[in-house]
Amino acid sequence: MKVAIIGGGLAGLTAAAYLSEQTSMKGVLFERSPQLGGRAFTYEKAGFTLNYGAHAIYALDRHTLSVMERELDLAFGSKQVDRRKVMYEKGEQLTPAPLDFVNLMKTDILTMMQKVRFVGEITAIIANIHQLKNYATLGDYLAESGADEDVKELWEHLVCSNFFITPEDARRVPGTVISTYYHNLFLSNRPVNYVLGSWAVITNQLRSKTEQSSRWSIALQEGVDGIRYEQGKYVLKTKAREEMFDRIIFAMPVQQVVKLLRGTPWEPFLEPYEHNTATEVMVYDVGLSEVVARPFSYISDMNSKMFISDVSATDYTLVPEGGQLLQGIAYLNDESDAEGGDRKAYLEERTAKMEALFDRHYPGWRDCVAVKRVSKKAMVQSVKNVASNRLLPNRIESMPFYFCGDGCEGKGELAERAFSSARAVAEQIAAELLQLQKVHK
Ligand SMILES: Cc1cc2nc3c(=O)[nH]c(=O)nc-3n(C[C@H](O)[C@H](O)[C@H](O)COP(=O)(O)OP(=O)(O)OC[C@H]3O[C@@H](n4cnc5c(N)ncnc54)[C@H](O)[C@@H]3O)c2cc1C
Repeated sequence: MKVAIIGGGLAGLTAAAYLSEQTSMKGVLFERSPQLGGRAFTYEKAGFTLNYGAHAIYALDRHTLSVMERELDLAFGSKQVDRRKVMYEKGEQLTPAPLDFVNLMKTDILTMMQKVRFVGEITAIIANIHQLKNYATLGDYLAESGADEDVKELWEHLVCSNFFITPEDARRVPGTVISTYYHNLFLSNRPVNYVLGSWAVITNQLRSKTEQSSRWSIALQEGVDGIRYEQGKYVLKTKAREEMFDRIIFAMPVQQVVKLLRGTPWEPFLEPYEHNTATEVMVYDVGLSEVVARPFSYISDMNSKMFISDVSATDYTLVPEGGQLLQGIAYLNDESDAEGGDRKAYLEERTAKMEALFDRHYPGWRDCVAVKRVSKKAMVQSVKNVASNRLLPNRIESMPFYFCGDGCEGKGELAERAFSSARAVAEQIAAELLQLQKVHK
């Protein structure tokens, strides 16, 4: 069996690494960029290691990456973010984020009664008996919950920071998605970790595992721009070649799959997923020549809906000696929501607010900037997991293709969905191969 994977991000590389273990299968991974990694692409500048997408892993001990570590023999270090230094800022108040029972008891954003109520909510989620899972959305649950505004706000804020979405969107996340997610997270002993050395530590190993198999090749700068069916096979077209395959894995955002299949006989099957919206944020990375201040690992400004992670407080491998790497992220409203339609002014205002947040907590940072990267529109998750969107299944009935990536069905959110959906797709193709071998015996 000959397999093509289109897309060399976390999902495509994961599928390739698993399938390269199959001795009666060969394949090609096509990536249109000059480098692998997709949105988890990492680069070095002036001694700093910058990720295009951050590399925080939520619930590492229960994460698909830990399963892959065992199954694919990956080796990587990780470090837990110091929970006591994860802070929320609300109004003028600065207080520990209620991430666990210790922080919950210390936080000032809830009264004692509200704390008791929130502990009850956490306990019910852990025991899997929380009513939330029976509600269409978090907003529907909160509307009927009778909880105080502060507790409601806390729920929204938690979801916003784990799913990287605005509080308004947090209310639109399905109840079942939230209860499953927090059941996992509240049971974890390792709630927020960084992979030491960035995503490159993972992507390099997935790559070399794939390349170790002489049956697989990786084609960089070879974007697939056409696909057709011919004599029982699928012919992929790039600028450099046309090649036949038995199975195709699409490991790219659904928006790009839709584009690639436009005008083909398969276009109608994608129609239900065509209008999915993505999660987009503004990212403001600054590498500083010295540590200007280190009051927190993470500070979330609940008023302005943005946060700063002191990435190097946890992952010290990313900076030159004595340096500091801060990453600011601002949630963005959908383009259609921008006041008066002036998106440029809206983004400028978000940038100014972000810089003001840096000024407030990292005074002097402006004089120590060694590296800066601002991205005003970064796609964090290709399909926002809200009730009005539909994740792409790993396989659509009557369609001969497979789909994986962070916009597809799978376990977890963000990168975990890319890993878990790719692992599931590889498993399905391996099972198909086995079935075919049995038939031919
Ligand atoms: C700012 C930011 C912060 C983030 N923070 C976190 C975090 O802290 N924790 C976390 O878990 N996740 C985080 N993420 C999310 C994580 O980076 C993504 O979920 C993950 O990288 C998605 O991987 P993917 O393989 O599904 O898609 P992609 O990375 O988009 O990979 C798709 C690949 O397909 C290629 N491609 C597209 N079309 C074609 C074609 N026609 N032919 C060939 N190749 C093609 C693209 O070039 C790309 O390389 C963050 C993302 C961003 C942007």
